[in-house]
Amino acid sequence: MSKDWKTRTTLVHEGSRRSQYGEMAEAIFLTQGFVYPTAEAAEARFVKIEGDEFIYARYGNPTTRMFEERIAALEGTEDAFATASGMAAVNGALVSLLRAGDHVVSARALFGSCLYILEEVLGRYGVEVTFVDGADLDQWRAPMRPGVTKAVFFESMSNPTLELVDIRGVSEIAHAAGALVIVDNVFSTPIFSRAVDLGADVVVYSTTKHIDGQGRALGGVVCGTAEYIRKVLEPYMKHTGGSMSPFTSWIMLNGMATLDLRCRAMAESALKVAEALQGDDRLSRVIFPGLASHAQHDLAMAQMCSGGTMVAFDIKGGKEAAFRFMNALEIIKISNNLGDAKSIATHPATTTHQRLPQDQKDSLGITPGLIRLSVGLEDAGDLIADLNRALAAI
Ligand SMILES: *Cc1c(COP(=O)(O)O)cnc(C)c1O
Repeated sequence: MSKDWKTRTTLVHEGSRRSQYGEMAEAIFLTQGFVYPTAEAAEARFVKIEGDEFIYARYGNPTTRMFEERIAALEGTEDAFATASGMAAVNGALVSLLRAGDHVVSARALFGSCLYILEEVLGRYGVEVTFVDGADLDQWRAPMRPGVTKAVFFESMSNPTLELVDIRGVSEIAHAAGALVIVDNVFSTPIFSRAVDLGADVVVYSTTKHIDGQGRALGGVVCGTAEYIRKVLEPYMKHTGGSMSPFTSWIMLNGMATLDLRCRAMAESALKVAEALQGDDRLSRVIFPGLASHAQHDLAMAQMCSGGTMVAFDIKGGKEAAFRFMNALEIIKISNNLGDAKSIATHPATTTHQRLPQDQKDSLGITPGLIRLSVGLEDAGDLIADLNRALAAI
């Protein structure tokens, strides 16, 4: 098949496999296993799995394979492995690679569960992790130990303060020390991502976010070279049980078909929302990488060609004012997912980042008035009206 497809064609067709019935929609192969025509065929398959052969759903499944091929084509990597959740993907990407005695350099601003893996889990098994300020390239350079630093890890856009890491800059530093670059790319979305072009080796997504995009299922995926995915990651994932279920894979495949349209529509609305909020005297700051006022606006445009789908802002009056604002929202829901069709407001200081010690909240800019807004697919004018109504209620 021709492989010079543009993104939208890839998202609709790539990886499709049809059974003898020629079904139009991708089929859900809800089966744990597969029947071998003969004992000899079973033996042969356990020696080597060929292209369209499967053994057991924990190892692989036709529906899951369709999703893996589709996302790998979108991301521009040779292969991908789908996982039960975003955290199974982050855990697998790191733990499958690392051994006791290895060293990792990681950005400090991380999703809470990612921090748990890097701070708690890796240390327990003798992997040393150095945390740095992800936006400062000098801080990445200093702790590198050639031959010992096996990986660097960061979120390309941090949660919740939308700070970018320069993927090209960090990749050059990491590669000079022989380290693999593992990027959690959720906030950049798979549509605005150019992580592999910029030097990343492994790209991880929680597919729970934009890829499903309708808040239905947990999922994750790791994208990388065939060598890394099949020789390093797959043996770990298939034996430790973190594979994506066929039903979830089907949900994600359907999410992919509209992913480009949804991410672009959400990013367009996010810009309108950020522009509407910017300069509002009830707010002390508005953070959106698509605004020229964002300190890393140029990097965002070079790295993502977009400001993304998330906006953050700080309400004057702290937690009380922030809560009054949230409770007055009508269209925008109070929750903690992101990338959903439904717009979602989160108060990080009391929910997603509640357990961080105060000094870390301070250094990460997680103030009592900070709201993280995931902009959904509603009409941008309706969202702005909802935000203004809630701001007026403070
Ligand atoms: C949500 C999220 C994860 C974890 O994904 P789950 O699907 O919830 O396991 C990891 N990293 C980032 C940046 C996320 O937003």
